[in-house]
Amino acid sequence: MSESTQTPMKDAVREAMNEQIKHELYSAYLYLSMAGSFEAANLSGFAYWMREQSDEERGHAMKFFDFLLHRGEHVQLRAIEAPPYAFRSPLDTFEQALEHEKEITSHIHRLYELAVQENDYPAQVMLNWFVGEQVQEEQMATEIVGRLRMAGDDSAALLLLDGELGKR
Ligand code: MG
Repeated sequence: MSESTQTPMKDAVREAMNEQIKHELYSAYLYLSMAGSFEAANLSGFAYWMREQSDEERGHAMKFFDFLLHRGEHVQLRAIEAPPYAFRSPLDTFEQALEHEKEITSHIHRLYELAVQENDYPAQVMLNWFVGEQVQEEQMATEIVGRLRMAGDDSAALLLLDGELGKR
């Protein structure tokens, strides 16, 4: 391969972005596992929502993938862990999704801090989008967790919410 002629990225930023691709792909994997679990429980609305979420996460990974390529960097894909397979309830599932998104938010914030430290201005511009996106991700998951808590053991309320999430 020919040598890159672009301004090189700092090793620490490149390394963190390669790691972030893994985190986003793990998110896609986790939500796909949750989608499968919902399908198995005949909750097709929740399953659809999680499938869409999984696709979105793959899109996030691709934003980092393309960003590295546009900067003339090589992308190093890493091993992705197996996600949990069994979930106790819709509430348990969405609580785990919310906890996971909070973890992703902290990764994004650390990545942003690093981009600031390393004076990587293009990375800061690109990460701005992710900072806003994480606020939305946490807000959506929080709302669903709240509504699942309200529904409690009422299966009619649960099915109503399932129908609503199926229209995402
Ligand atoms: Mg994401």
